[in-house]
Amino acid sequence: MMPRFTFSGLPTRVVFGSRTIGSIGSEVERLDRRRAFVVCSAAQQREGEMVCDLLGRSCSDVYAGAVLHTPTSVTKDAMHAMVGAVSDCIVSIGGGSAIGLGKALALRTGIPQICVPTTYAGSEMTPILGQTEDAEKTTLADPAILPKTVIYDVELTKSLPKRLAAASGLNAIAHAAEALYAQNGNPIIGLLAQEGIAALIRSLPQIVSDPIADQSRSDALYGAWLCGVCLGSVGMALHHKLCHVVAGSFDLPHAETHAILLPYALAYNLEATPTALEALRTATGSNDPARKIYDLSRALDLPVSLGELGFGEDNIDRATTLTMKNSYWNPRPFDHSSIREILRAACGGRPPKTVRVDDYRI
Ligand code: NAD
Repeated sequence: MMPRFTFSGLPTRVVFGSRTIGSIGSEVERLDRRRAFVVCSAAQQREGEMVCDLLGRSCSDVYAGAVLHTPTSVTKDAMHAMVGAVSDCIVSIGGGSAIGLGKALALRTGIPQICVPTTYAGSEMTPILGQTEDAEKTTLADPAILPKTVIYDVELTKSLPKRLAAASGLNAIAHAAEALYAQNGNPIIGLLAQEGIAALIRSLPQIVSDPIADQSRSDALYGAWLCGVCLGSVGMALHHKLCHVVAGSFDLPHAETHAILLPYALAYNLEATPTALEALRTATGSNDPARKIYDLSRALDLPVSLGELGFGEDNIDRATTLTMKNSYWNPRPFDHSSIREILRAACGGRPPKTVRVDDYRI
């Protein structure tokens, strides 16, 4: 029998397809707004200016200062620029860094935002904001953070370098994988999670071999959207906490950190969650999903050890303490020693241990 559950659909409007960025003007108008402040990273200033050109007189300014982990100092600087430019709408174009800055501005001003994601990080589908101050990353959730509109344009993802595309895709898979054992999970999110993971597992190797192929870029963006819905709809667990600590407090690249830790976090959690294991076996087409994801990372030429990102064993104690600082739900209980063990395995990059719940087979 199906378990009792509740489900709330995200209210965000989604425009998906190829060359959908052309609708940016009408989407701003749809929100009854006149002057959009465009935010992006320095590396994507050209994309920010392209959006501004499309908006014409409805663009107030472009701020090309978004950086990883949304430092509050950058948000203050952008706020100053946005207020000076007189704006009533925010358009963020780029990866999670640009979208994070847009969210930080929306939260502080109550101004609606439109996101144009160009990676697979999924932030555009969540009411969550992670911010960094004094080398510590904290997150908060507020309905005011959730974007009003998201424009997914497959063309804008074709410039995403293949290593970033691969790592970002693994980041998306992590959202859906943890949604499968979320405390407040439900069958609808389970379907989206399986579909999102399957789309990414299928498309990422194709993107790496042919980075501008339409079908694989489209499949990956579709998968990333679904995985983002999972992240925005149900609670995450140990894997996301570990990534938040390791990437946020040790200044490591967000997507690669997810890609490296996911097989180890899954190998730990899936033993305690046979239903999620079964769903992941179906989505990945493998009896050992943790190993499948590890092998996929290797095949995509991604780093498989934290050591490769410069995170040494001497950081494990501090990372363990930070991970244990606040309590949160996880399908399998953990303590200092289990966290240390996961981090030690991830530091070395050896294949994850095989999950032993042998009665579940695809
Ligand atoms: P990112 O936004 O930092 O992008 C990495 C680099 O790639 C940047 O220089 C960016 O300009 C560039 N780039 C992005 N798209 C490109 C494209 N199509 N072509 C060429 N270059 C491109 O990386 P990310 O992994 O997307 O985002 C990471 C950030 O997002 C972190 O701060 C993380 O905490 C946050 N995040 C937040 C949530 C949430 O729900 N709050 C979810 C996921 C990620």
